[in-house]
Amino acid sequence: MPNALTELKARLAQVDDLEGAKHLLGWDQQVNMPPGGAEARAQHIATLSSLAHALFVANETGELLESASAETGELPYDSDDASLVRVTRREFEKMRRVPEELVAERAHAFALAFSAWEKARAQSDFASFKPHQERIVELAIAYAEALGYDAHPYDALLDRFEPEMTSAQVAKLFDQMKARIVPLVQAIVDRGEPVDDCFLHQEYADGPQWEFGQLVLAKMGFDFQRGRMDRSTHPFTQGISPDDVRLTTRILPERLLSGLFAVIHEGGHALYEQGLPPTLGRSKLRSGASYGVHESQSRLWENLVARSQPFWQHFLPHLRRLFPQQLDGVDVDGFFRAVNRVEPSFIRVEADEATYNLHIFMRFELELDLVARRLEVADLPAAWNAKMEAYLGITPPDDRRGVLQDVHWSSGFIGYFPTYALGNLLAAQIFAQARAAIQDLDRQIAGGALDDLLAWLRENVHRHGKKFTPLELVERITGGQIAADPFLDYLETKLSEIYRL
Ligand code: ZN
Repeated sequence: MPNALTELKARLAQVDDLEGAKHLLGWDQQVNMPPGGAEARAQHIATLSSLAHALFVANETGELLESASAETGELPYDSDDASLVRVTRREFEKMRRVPEELVAERAHAFALAFSAWEKARAQSDFASFKPHQERIVELAIAYAEALGYDAHPYDALLDRFEPEMTSAQVAKLFDQMKARIVPLVQAIVDRGEPVDDCFLHQEYADGPQWEFGQLVLAKMGFDFQRGRMDRSTHPFTQGISPDDVRLTTRILPERLLSGLFAVIHEGGHALYEQGLPPTLGRSKLRSGASYGVHESQSRLWENLVARSQPFWQHFLPHLRRLFPQQLDGVDVDGFFRAVNRVEPSFIRVEADEATYNLHIFMRFELELDLVARRLEVADLPAAWNAKMEAYLGITPPDDRRGVLQDVHWSSGFIGYFPTYALGNLLAAQIFAQARAAIQDLDRQIAGGALDDLLAWLRENVHRHGKKFTPLELVERITGGQIAADPFLDYLETKLSEIYRL
């Protein structure tokens, strides 16, 4: 007689298989699918989504969870099996409140919205995307109502990405960040002596850019036998399974840093996915702890490692070999300063470490207003531009560089953006711990040896998968809570030096 836990695992494995197939279709949609495939793909994804949902929220799952809970009651809190039951139960109780029709409706609407967004963005045509955006907001509100919340409907949406965090907690952290980042950016703008990065504004051919991206990824420890790199409009990473992790980049010949840092950023996500241990099985545990924790891994590699001087001590000679003309006479210090140039700009994914957060604050505020019905979709482009002016002092010349720039809303991801700024905070907290544990970390990075760092991340972050909530994980790693100061201290120190503030 198999026990309930074994039966539960078999059922969760099937749910995970359906999710894996869905992720593969989603990856294909963004990488390979011809435009004509959009409607059929929307159907495929909607069907898989509702099958996975129905299997997961069925009464049988609930009964198995009950019995498995009794079977695992004596196990330690952090054991794989006790964690599986605890985490699955939380998810089950949330998801069973969502009607299957709403699940299918959302999946179908978002798949169509994604294709509409790609077209609207290319043509900078918000009007053609507006009906989709309206539908997305309505579905987000319906989803929040189904999931339930205490204070604000946004909390229900945020919880899908950042379990057990509320919009009030996020707002408090963001206020602390604003209090130091806004004056920091202002001081840099007032300094009026921009860092010289003119050598970056030349033509950097696609082929060598691609080659360099692959070289850096391999050095970071990305396993090409268990992953691949492709191109897409919006860079992203999709784990189909820990043994099949796919990341994408976009290469723009006139913007070297765009593709370069996209690869390193997505590489950080991909290393997390490849580091999820097989022992966690095909279950809800085999994923990142949250989107914020996931983002901490990409930000850690992108900013704390790859925007540091030691990193370029090792990698600049490689890059110079690929682009001898463009980088003639550029030294490590000059390159380091250029990749840390701070300047208010339109595109979030290309923003520097300081202004990046301002892009997040404004999206968070717009989302809160949309979900609370304080802002009409028709007024969204104007509201966007007003916030850009308020936070960054610039106004996008068109919606392509404004409200249409991000993929998230078209994918139904309202409640997602705050996790990016939380990821910045967590990255600084986690990196400080890694630095304390690996005494000659800077020297290792300068020598191109990144494996001790990866091993530390594997041990302290990756191997736990989703066993712990973000708050529990931060407590385990740092002994404290998620905090803004370590990130703000790091940012002020680095930029004050570069800009001689
Ligand atoms: Zn990311």
